[in-house]
Amino acid sequence: MTVLTPERLVPGKPGKPTGLFIPELVYFEPAALSYPKGERIMKCVRERDIPYRMTTSHNRITNLPGEGELEQYKIAKRTLVVGVRKTLEFDQSKPSAEYAIPIATGCMGHCHYCYLQTTLGAKPYIRVYVNTGDIIAAAKRYIEARAPEITTFEAACTSDPLGIEHITGSLAELIQFMAEEPLGRLRFVTKYQHVEPLLGLAHNNHTRIRFSVNADYVIRNFEPNTSRFEERIEAAAQVARAGYPLGFIIAPIIWYDGWQEGYAELLAKLAQALPPEADKDLTFEMIQHRFTKTAKAIIEKRYPKTKLEMDIEKRKKKWGRWGQNKFVYQDEQQNALREFITERIFEYFPAGRIDYFT
Ligand code: SF4
Repeated sequence: MTVLTPERLVPGKPGKPTGLFIPELVYFEPAALSYPKGERIMKCVRERDIPYRMTTSHNRITNLPGEGELEQYKIAKRTLVVGVRKTLEFDQSKPSAEYAIPIATGCMGHCHYCYLQTTLGAKPYIRVYVNTGDIIAAAKRYIEARAPEITTFEAACTSDPLGIEHITGSLAELIQFMAEEPLGRLRFVTKYQHVEPLLGLAHNNHTRIRFSVNADYVIRNFEPNTSRFEERIEAAAQVARAGYPLGFIIAPIIWYDGWQEGYAELLAKLAQALPPEADKDLTFEMIQHRFTKTAKAIIEKRYPKTKLEMDIEKRKKKWGRWGQNKFVYQDEQQNALREFITERIFEYFPAGRIDYFT
């Protein structure tokens, strides 16, 4: 199993955000320390001399350091909170899966467009849950309730779980659990390359690992503190060689000057870099860029220099599931993006499957 040990925690070099994430401050709920995972994380935190504090609830961190909102936000993105997951009712996770499986909340990435900006609001710190046994037991109940249908769980709805796997080991636990479940499937998506601890696991083809990829322009301008494209693709190749079902999420698809060249180049580079095994069972999901008025306000505050286009006048209004209007591209733009990228996918991956465009 993957564990956080002082040796594993090799920081990334400045300007090269590819090292394993090391929190600069850690909070613990007292109850978390009665679980082996909580104990192990505490041991490593002490060994590495990472400052830590206790907190009564992982949902209420009130004494984050930092002057002003922006500085606190940046510090929160480097802060880990170790707690016990109490809510074991899973949210739905359409269209990618039946349920979201909650192993972590929050992410150290700084993607400007990330929907966690809004959904996590004032709590952007990274929460990890030590009671994976309870979470797995709840997943088992969901699987049984839907039998004989297959039940799929998405592990990346509220976090990028691979980016913190060296701390939690939770993905490895889920993968091994699902391998033994004839009717259970797991999937997660990532922008990080740290797949190595998952490669040797018995997965029984029940876990699909997807990489979030994009045109070079999008990665360069809007995805700070994530793995570089080449690193993600190298990781995807390793995952394919380890026999995992593989997928790519192209998201958010962004309309910018030169988008055709950008997305054509993306698919060409994927085809060039992937080994033949990848083609066996390969899926694509496509999500166009969208935002709400609340998200726009938050993003402009947190990333004031962003080049992310969020002009409400240019967009089409769409009723969102959470009761807020969201703004997507106009129909002609959506169609052009969908058709162009679909054609490129089938040009390079004729056996690939497109799950959805949304
Ligand atoms: Fe959000 Fe994913 Fe970027 Fe993390 S890596 S900030 S979860 S989009």
